[in-house]
Amino acid sequence: MAAIQTLPPRLANQIAAGEVVERPASVTKELIENALDAGASRVEVEVEQGGARLIRVRDDGDGIAHDQMPLALSRHATSKIHSLDDLEAVSSLGFRGEALASISSVARLTLTSRARGETEGWCVEAEGQDMQTRVSPAAHPQGTTVEVRDLFFNTPARRKFLRTEKTEFNHLEENLRRQALSRFDVGFTLQHNGRAVQSLRPATTERDRQQRVASLCGSQFMEHALSIDVEASGLRLQGWVALPTFSRSQADLQYFFVNGRPIRDRLVAHAVRQAYRDVLYNQRHPAFVLYLEVDPANVDVNVHPTKHEVRFRDGRLVHDFLFRSLHRALAEVRPGDDSTEPG
Ligand code: ADP
Ligand code: MG
Repeated sequence: MAAIQTLPPRLANQIAAGEVVERPASVTKELIENALDAGASRVEVEVEQGGARLIRVRDDGDGIAHDQMPLALSRHATSKIHSLDDLEAVSSLGFRGEALASISSVARLTLTSRARGETEGWCVEAEGQDMQTRVSPAAHPQGTTVEVRDLFFNTPARRKFLRTEKTEFNHLEENLRRQALSRFDVGFTLQHNGRAVQSLRPATTERDRQQRVASLCGSQFMEHALSIDVEASGLRLQGWVALPTFSRSQADLQYFFVNGRPIRDRLVAHAVRQAYRDVLYNQRHPAFVLYLEVDPANVDVNVHPTKHEVRFRDGRLVHDFLFRSLHRALAEVRPGDDSTEPG
């Protein structure tokens, strides 16, 4: 039997990366979450070759103080929670302190930042098996830029799983769509191979918000959407649901947010499907952009490392609330004679 040894930091981080860093889109997801947690009002994303060659995310958030720069890259280091109590009522998107450490173990990552109120900026990288950090001065406006080059350059087995540039970029764009739908107050831009792909100004009025949804989900969706806002039993559901006149052949226009966090959940999916059951043919899929607000104490977000899943304390209550709210909203509008069926 071989002797038991502690893994070198890079290897330990590469193993952890297996759970959260699947492809370029997962990198942008984590970096955008960090920008949002830092209170950014603008997030700029630049990618090359679908993100495999370069991902650069720049924000105008709080930045990181000089003495904290090395910690930002080390595993299990986070500024977002300090105790189990914090975790149980967590409101930030991040809290695991793993993303930057994981990403920098499988790519060439440079973190550059200038903290609010400071006059100088700094950059840091983690090198070698020990992931020793080196901090050096760097010009940067207030905020943070994370540059990730050559994803999986040192993990060939993972690199093989990358799909074509187009497929990877589609995933990345889909992720950005989800995040842009989760924060109307933040401006987002996306560039691919030097070409501007998306530019969204912060949306403050209801009209702005509708415009953002239209530019992300298509104006067809918005034209056929019913706006909803229901509150009961300590739950609130807001957003837009497509009338049966706009259904899809695939479940590709379904966005659901719990306390601002994009999630996929079977219970939610089931409630929505039931609500549409009488008005939609079986093979068709509803389209929706919905926001559920729940007391953070009644929902567990620490179910999976990617945080796409949540667990509700009272799942039945949530299910019934969703079903009833949507069913009622859809029942109020009679199926129209306009039977265009895009998608
Ligand atoms: P987590 O988000 O779970 O805390 P990360 O590895 O993603 O873990 O980030 C580690 C820490 O680095 C964060 O807790 C935060 O303090 C800091 N950080 C990362 N990205 C940014 C950013 N864009 N702006 C400000 N601080 C950041
Ligand atoms: Mg994070």
